[in-house]
Amino acid sequence: MTDPRAALVLFSGGQDSTTCLAWALERYSRVETVAFDYRQRHRIELDCRLIVRHELAAQFPHWAKRLGDDHLVDAGVLAQLGDSALTTQRAIEMQADGLPNTFVPGRNLLFLTLAAALAYRRGMSVLVAGMCETDYSGYPDCRDNTLKAMQVALSLGLGQPMTLETPLMFIDKAATWALAERLGGPALSALIVEHTHTCYLGQRGQRHAWGHGCGVCPACTLRRGGFERWRFAPV
Ligand code: ZN
Repeated sequence: MTDPRAALVLFSGGQDSTTCLAWALERYSRVETVAFDYRQRHRIELDCRLIVRHELAAQFPHWAKRLGDDHLVDAGVLAQLGDSALTTQRAIEMQADGLPNTFVPGRNLLFLTLAAALAYRRGMSVLVAGMCETDYSGYPDCRDNTLKAMQVALSLGLGQPMTLETPLMFIDKAATWALAERLGGPALSALIVEHTHTCYLGQRGQRHAWGHGCGVCPACTLRRGGFERWRFAPV
């Protein structure tokens, strides 16, 4: 039997997945988190996620009692299949196929499959993930149709419903900041600025209004642009 009040959040420690975690904590009475170690070029995100979980529990007591176990799954097999700018030190640039070389083929498909297997073991039938096709790098495994197809494939293959919730799919980065503030007020926005990590280069040294990061990689550019539109030209 699965518990319909429980959800497993794919939680990397970035802005998007932290917003998804807050979204899930508002809706489900038991929320667990999972992340994947795929030999990413920096470990900062994996370190940040534990700090974010700690801060969420400390600052939002009504969420703390819903926040359950955390899981770190080894997905290092991805590194055996080939590298990308997310897993090796190389310049981030566009490829001939129109995708940035940060694209790790099959990554999200594998993560969703592993997360669904874990959810099954944990008696859960809901996955929450931060994929978005509105304001993104063009990765095909972030698109709604991919997620819909995965939901069907996982539900059939596991022999039980597996619902994929993607609350950010059709909103841009400015609206993601606004959603966080609706969920947790200025305290959650401040927590996201201070403690989440988005930068592809793993830089945390410089603190900008929108958080830490290099400010120029594709991930920082999306985060910064969304923050500025939200702060200075709210829709
Ligand atoms: Zn960056």
